Amino acid sequence: MSAQHPGIGMTSQRTRLRMIERLRAQGIRDEAVLAVMAQVPRHVFVDEALASRAYEDMSLPIGFGQTISNPHTVARMTELACAGGAPGKVLEIGTGCGYQTAILAKLAKQVYSMERIAALIRKARKNLREAGITNIHLRHGDGHAGMPGVSPFDAIVMTAAANRVPEKLVEQLSAGGRMILPMAGKADQYLCVIERAAKGYTERRMEPVRFVPLLPGVG
Ligand code: SAH
Repeated sequence: MSAQHPGIGMTSQRTRLRMIERLRAQGIRDEAVLAVMAQVPRHVFVDEALASRAYEDMSLPIGFGQTISNPHTVARMTELACAGGAPGKVLEIGTGCGYQTAILAKLAKQVYSMERIAALIRKARKNLREAGITNIHLRHGDGHAGMPGVSPFDAIVMTAAANRVPEKLVEQLSAGGRMILPMAGKADQYLCVIERAAKGYTERRMEPVRFVPLLPGVG
């Protein structure tokens, strides 16, 4: 328990285990995902004033008009990203506070994560260090470009909603690799899973979700 995060009762292992039971009830089945979410201290990733709410079923503000996704959404995206087996290299677009990055890093070999707001990169770096996560590589930049120099990726997880599938990212998937992203429709958003097949790509539309928009350029 970090001395910087008060409210020990609300941030205890017991509170975290209640979150895991709720995730199970909400349909999360991947035991590896549930195990790492039981391990990673989510309260480290939110501002001190919100630490007592870190394990509730809600998204929370992280500054700069952005939010940390609710636990169920993080679990679901991770479950989908790992559905083909534990990924080697993962690319995340939208680091935010670094919580999804941390969960992915516990399951994958290496996680590369891009964020357009420099101050959030600094925040995420500090949070990830505090959580003891080291197999991560954070980059300040526009995620639309991806990281062609590091590609191919076994999984790409995008945590901001796009209007169309970013072509450059899909091209950076390994054979059999998958990209999980929220797609913005006319009035709603839904999760989308794109898989790189032997020839071309398959696209699956999943459940409705709510994300902040993917924005162009750096902030
Ligand atoms: N996974 C994060 C979610 C943060 S919200 C978390 O758990 O905290 C989505 C993030 O995507 C925001 O931080 C936003 O700044 C970032 N973002 C939006 N458009 C982007 C882009 N084009 N490139 C990189 N990051 C982007």
